[in-house]
Amino acid sequence: MRVGIPRGLLFNDFSPLFIPFFNHLGIETIVSDETNRTIINRGLEIVPAEYCFPIKVAYGHVDDLLKKGADYIFIPHIANTGKPTSGYKYSVACLWTQSTPDLIKSAPKLITEGLIQNNLLSPSLFFDWGLNHIEDQMKKTIAKMGYNTKNVRSALKEGLVNKIKFDKQIENKTKDIFNSIQEKCKNNEPIFLVMARPYTAYDANVNNDIVNKILDAGYLAIPLEFTPIGSIDISKQMPKMYWVQGQNKLTAIELLNANRNLFGIDITYFACGPDAQINQQMRCRTQKPFLTIEMDEHTGDAGIDTRLQAFFNTVKSYLGIGFEQKSKVFNVKLKGLNEIKGNKILLLPPMSKHNDALSAVFNAYGIQSRVLEVSSDETLERARSCTCGLVCTPYLHTTEAMLNFMQKPEFDQKKFAFFQATTDCGPCRLGQYASLESLLFQKKGIDVDIITGGEVDSEFNLGLSLLIKVWSGITAVDQLEKMRMHTRPYEVNTGASDQIYDKYVKSLLDYLADSKTNHGKMKTLLNIGKAFFYNLFDTKLSPIEEILRKAQSEFSEVKRTNEEKPKIGIAGEFFVRLHEQANQYIISKLEKKGLETWLAPATEYLIYSYYINSVLAKEKFNLHRKKKYLREW
Ligand code: SF4
Repeated sequence: MRVGIPRGLLFNDFSPLFIPFFNHLGIETIVSDETNRTIINRGLEIVPAEYCFPIKVAYGHVDDLLKKGADYIFIPHIANTGKPTSGYKYSVACLWTQSTPDLIKSAPKLITEGLIQNNLLSPSLFFDWGLNHIEDQMKKTIAKMGYNTKNVRSALKEGLVNKIKFDKQIENKTKDIFNSIQEKCKNNEPIFLVMARPYTAYDANVNNDIVNKILDAGYLAIPLEFTPIGSIDISKQMPKMYWVQGQNKLTAIELLNANRNLFGIDITYFACGPDAQINQQMRCRTQKPFLTIEMDEHTGDAGIDTRLQAFFNTVKSYLGIGFEQKSKVFNVKLKGLNEIKGNKILLLPPMSKHNDALSAVFNAYGIQSRVLEVSSDETLERARSCTCGLVCTPYLHTTEAMLNFMQKPEFDQKKFAFFQATTDCGPCRLGQYASLESLLFQKKGIDVDIITGGEVDSEFNLGLSLLIKVWSGITAVDQLEKMRMHTRPYEVNTGASDQIYDKYVKSLLDYLADSKTNHGKMKTLLNIGKAFFYNLFDTKLSPIEEILRKAQSEFSEVKRTNEEKPKIGIAGEFFVRLHEQANQYIISKLEKKGLETWLAPATEYLIYSYYINSVLAKEKFNLHRKKKYLREW
């Protein structure tokens, strides 16, 4: 029985753990060849969508293992690497890295090459959950292969000891290597810090041989892993960075700023989601010349050589000038609602009527609030002009709405604050929007407060009563939207459905904004009880149910044609599917083509998030993650 382990992605970080692990259990491991032209070309042939270059290469490595006759292929879902950079709480892997097993499974060309989905070993590993969880997952993996799981714990111990040794060796080398640059500094020579992830920095075929090019030019190149970034804590200045490689890159900027002769060369890839955010944040903190090279399979040597040469020249002039004009370093400034309540008006980015419902409830609870208008500039020029790289559409739309408002005569940073959604542990880019907006606005000289919503009990602790009212409001908006979508395609009198919709959305918002309708503690608890034990409560409709019933009755009276129309389901990214401009009015376009639409409700995303969190919480609970128990390791 041979288990294949592909190179690339997190191989460098975790092969010191997993290869001894399998070997301890008497399972032979085979590793794919080092990246070469054949592997790259196969990856490009197999990849079913436009991912970043390292992911494309990952397909080639799996193909190589299939050709080598691996019985199983081991690619874990590593959601959290367990070792955040100094001061940070989370060490999240990028979304595509996390989901590589699913990406691999969905490549039809790999299946025709012999990939059997059941033979893909892909345990979900959260290294921050503790080793009992890793043991549990690895036991399931080994059992799937038909092996006895008795020795899994000792195998894991051996793997862990080896990984700790490996990490320690790097740490020991770090001091020597970093000290060696002092000699170069004395001679005023530049040293280049290669800011890249391990799967790119150490793979010449993935990084276009950039490290050798620096060495061939006669300069010293140091990879991130061999710098003392572990001893620098920037988590207060850049609090929301949950991707571990983002933490490393941002921390490395401190080293560049503190060491006159050290210059950063950042390697990134077209379509890299995290770097589209991280690179801009780095630029708001760097104080000296800095090179970003973005590449993919089409990038040629000549382009890289030219850019490197130009950068070497810039650096030489910088060192030759003798005086330093340092750029300002910006820190992310985010606030909680409690810091502006009563003295500022909270502005929510536009998305759909759900945001109006949220704003109405804020007002009912004494947080002055309103929803920003959509910018009339469909090209989103304001947002694009202060952003570089391929940031995502929701970021551009929300930032554009804020910048648009800043142009208005009524804008006063002392009077208004912007709301931006966020997450504390990613994994997608949403959690970075507020940070980047904070930095970019400061860079433009605008010191406006940005209010975020993160973990419950942190800056966005609003209380159960408010949250239940928000939930009722957005659920009701979903229902009204559904009634409209079910009626409008068939209406005889154009505009009848929109009129009813507008009328009842207004009734709903008036109700939500009325502080007299806020629930006290008892009513809140009764509401929760009603959700679970409906039969035990009286059947009297709540005011929101009454609004919905009346709307339903009016929608049912709309004069309809007798046509039968195909119904199209619209799912997809939460913000884009709800924001008319972002989805380019897809619903009305489909209706004009003679179709009825069904839109995944806004609450679907929230319910799924709560569901998945409850599944994970249950799993954690079952593991009895008690310190005492963990000490066995
Ligand atoms: S971090 Fe960027 S380059 Fe690396 S796998 Fe994720 S998207 Fe690709």
